[in-house]
Amino acid sequence: PVVTRFAPSPTGFLHIGGARTALFNWLYARGRGGKFLLRIEDTDRERSTPEATKAILQGMEWLGLDHDGEVISQFEGASRHAEVARQLLAEGKAYKCFATQDEIAAFREQAKAEGKSTLYRSPWRDADPASHPDAPFVIRIKAPQSGVTVIKDEVQGDVTIRNDQLDDMILLRSDGTPVYMLAVVVDDHDMGVTHVIRGDDHLNNAARQMMIYEAMGWDVPVWAHIPLIHGPDGKKLSKRHGALGAQEYQAMGYPAAGMRNYLARLGWSHGDDEFFTDDQAKEWFNFDGIGKSPARFDTKKLENLSGQHIAVSDDAALRHEICAYLAAAGKTALTDAQSQGLEAAMYCLKDRARTFPELLEKAHFVLVSRPIERDAKAEKALSSVSDGILGELTPQLQNASWVRDDLEALLNAFAEAHDTKFGKLAGPLRAALAGRAVTPSVFDMMLILGREETLARLKDATG
Ligand code: GLU
Repeated sequence: PVVTRFAPSPTGFLHIGGARTALFNWLYARGRGGKFLLRIEDTDRERSTPEATKAILQGMEWLGLDHDGEVISQFEGASRHAEVARQLLAEGKAYKCFATQDEIAAFREQAKAEGKSTLYRSPWRDADPASHPDAPFVIRIKAPQSGVTVIKDEVQGDVTIRNDQLDDMILLRSDGTPVYMLAVVVDDHDMGVTHVIRGDDHLNNAARQMMIYEAMGWDVPVWAHIPLIHGPDGKKLSKRHGALGAQEYQAMGYPAAGMRNYLARLGWSHGDDEFFTDDQAKEWFNFDGIGKSPARFDTKKLENLSGQHIAVSDDAALRHEICAYLAAAGKTALTDAQSQGLEAAMYCLKDRARTFPELLEKAHFVLVSRPIERDAKAEKALSSVSDGILGELTPQLQNASWVRDDLEALLNAFAEAHDTKFGKLAGPLRAALAGRAVTPSVFDMMLILGREETLARLKDATG
């Protein structure tokens, strides 16, 4: 069975790159009936904060990336990590090193002067335990000193590292705390992780982690190191390219499904498919589709996919998500009446909106109540016809049958009787009904508002 994990360090919000790593792990597990675990790598006590953990959990929740089991704290496993270091010591695969900082610095200086490798080679590696002083020590692993280490990576292929470039990495510090690299390996092993999908900035770590797997005789997981995300200019994604926090995209009004679709396409592809559902992504996601070079962030594509997801979303679900968006963006919540009106109108709002702010702009007519304030464009549209015309329309609507076809026929005939086209009346009608120039169709608005409200708004507009 497949077990993947997302292992963020809680030092800030959920980064867009982290969100994509989480998504890839989620898709890989969910598409294979596997498990997707969450481990918070909080061993760096100075930089880790509970607020950051909360922000990461919230970001994942927004994106719908549900994990299996409890959230695991790496820090809480410290004694288990230390136990593994001591086991390696007992088995002779690690050793106590009593070298002081000064001695190590002196070693490096001399190596440099002699033009040799400055990788520290501890004299304690082969020392007789009987000669050990009663002094502070670290536990170092006995790294292989010749030959090569090959990392079989699903994305990068075989990555070969010369063992003479690896030093005897510290496993346990002199204060008895385990190093990060040890914690990762022990946790991944104990959690039963079978596939590690993460950024390729961790590729070098994999070589060192491999030493620990081999020393412990544990199975190495399948590794897939994915290229980082770049900005549109091809440089590493940074603040100047725009928002970096996954949740900032919620506050900008992108739907979670659109964001998932977009992030899945960021560095992975399935033929020419751009728009797809979660089920398709779960079924299709594999390592073959992951690109070898960095993907570039493309806001236009995100908007485009978001619009397509909004268009196919369920009305009630959209209403729910829009309310969450308003809260995330710090905007005024909708009243119950507004929220119900929004859902009733959703069918004619969701078609061409790329984001929730765009959708809400079109929804304006159903969110406001009389008297309706008109913006400048609406004011202009209204003044393009004489007051009289809209006034004459009112009695006809009073007795009209309130269904789309009949309303259409009525308005077309009305326009003809006044020697004009319906198109010329649409602008003023939009202005009267919505106070805006950009709205859903006049007929949709009339049907949603109902006869009484429509007539009242026309009357307000004709003074
Ligand atoms: N905590 C690491 C990070 O946030 C991830 C380590 C891993 O996935 O092995 O970059």
